[in-house]
Amino acid sequence: MTALEGLGYAAAPLDRASALREDPAAVAALRARPDARVVVVARDMPVLLESEAGLEPLLMLAEVEALGGARVEALLGLLPGGAPVFAALLKDDAVVQQADSSDGFLDQRVLVVPGRDDLKLIDLRSIAAGGLVAAPEASILAAAKALFAWHARRSFCSNCGARTLVGAAGWRRECPACKMQHFPRTDPVVIMLAVDGDACLLGRQRRFPKGMYSALAGFLEPGETIEQAVRREIMEEAGIACGEVRYFASQPWPFPSSLMIGCFAEAQSRTITVDQVELEDARWFPRDEVRAMLEKRHPDRLAAPIPMAIAHHLIKGWAFGHFVG
Ligand SMILES: [Zn+2]
Repeated sequence: MTALEGLGYAAAPLDRASALREDPAAVAALRARPDARVVVVARDMPVLLESEAGLEPLLMLAEVEALGGARVEALLGLLPGGAPVFAALLKDDAVVQQADSSDGFLDQRVLVVPGRDDLKLIDLRSIAAGGLVAAPEASILAAAKALFAWHARRSFCSNCGARTLVGAAGWRRECPACKMQHFPRTDPVVIMLAVDGDACLLGRQRRFPKGMYSALAGFLEPGETIEQAVRREIMEEAGIACGEVRYFASQPWPFPSSLMIGCFAEAQSRTITVDQVELEDARWFPRDEVRAMLEKRHPDRLAAPIPMAIAHHLIKGWAFGHFVG
């Protein structure tokens, strides 16, 4: 699968250098390099340095100390030239929340670092959707955000309740009491386009922006294959039975720590029964109408998701015949 143009958080610019995580001396040596940089997260939101050149996500390590030190630090990896990139989760009290108009779809908290007008906290959806930083850097921020979303909620052992310690250069938590090791989670989500001939099935949740329809999606459950989860979700949400399921592409989705697994599914019927709890509406869209939605010329102003989302590429791939469903 070649890269999908514009797909968010999927650029993978770093050599993760996982062999170094168990070598504290090697990590310390990387940390001492003058070209070492750090991406900073506070309360699930990236912290960017604003200058005349734009918004910079890769900061000097000294910035973290100036901001009160890291609650957790991790070695994310090495840039192509070898420069190490760390991630730091600030203590919650390093930032102040001034407002919160979040609507369940977008994180619209207004967070500031007191006395530092040059530091901007911007939610990661806006960063990727608006192209506020380059795609490789958005991917680095995504890794840091997902990793720290896990750390921030795993201070205590889920097995015995004791306080856990950070290990493996930020990629493990260890319980000193029961010795259990805990690893960062990634939660698989299936996102799929059911297709039948010249139509595809799209739905909308109440929290979606006005007029937006997307592919259906849901969490993969324990004991399921990807194919089974795809068929189950389409049946649950729209009452449509599906046959063949084909993998398309995947996308890290750090809200908080998912992996979106994009698939096509061949529908075996057209009769929709909408699950009103999950969806506000679901219907079959002819290919021409879907093209109009992708090209922002739909007469009723219906729209597909933007290119940062894998749903856009699933829908576009089918609508323009790159994939024959
Ligand atoms: Zn324990």
